[in-house]
Amino acid sequence: MTEDERIDAIAAHLKAITELLGEDTTREGLLKTPVRAAKALRFLTSGYGQSPEQVVGDALFEHEGSHMIIVRDIEFYSMCEHHILPFFGKVSIGYIPNGKIVGISKLARLVNVYARRLQVQERFTAQICRKVVEILGAKGAIVLCSGEHLCMKMRGVEKQHSATTTMHYEGDFNDPALRAEFLSAVRSAT
Ligand code: ZN
Repeated sequence: MTEDERIDAIAAHLKAITELLGEDTTREGLLKTPVRAAKALRFLTSGYGQSPEQVVGDALFEHEGSHMIIVRDIEFYSMCEHHILPFFGKVSIGYIPNGKIVGISKLARLVNVYARRLQVQERFTAQICRKVVEILGAKGAIVLCSGEHLCMKMRGVEKQHSATTTMHYEGDFNDPALRAEFLSAVRSAT
């Protein structure tokens, strides 16, 4: 299936959904909406077609030190797999290098690979963490994620000010002292 064929197929379904919701899809404002929305959905789920190894590429650099490296507040936009509604927020990543570091912008791209698909925040957080350890051979990694979920805000319980925090760590970060160091660095830097 070519990309154009895929967009057309998704658009046909979106048109049917829009009609089932009670809209007149022949009115002017909606004529191109199914195709536009199909393209938007393809972009928002483009992580399925990307591999983390590919986006990091050869942006790995030799590094002698073994102190913690932290990249804070990487923005992400994802969609919850339960309602196909957006959730979004920030990710902070810490790791203990083991001879290699990675270009900072590559970490942001790695986050996007896992954000641009249907997700739950817990798995998203763990996937980033495990992949940082795997790609870098790091001695440990920790990922802290704070997300706001539109399925919480717009529907159901309508909790406007709720945020969800998830954390995942591997390796050296099993040490509570190291986790405390990471958390205080992430908080104090604002
Ligand atoms: Zn949801």
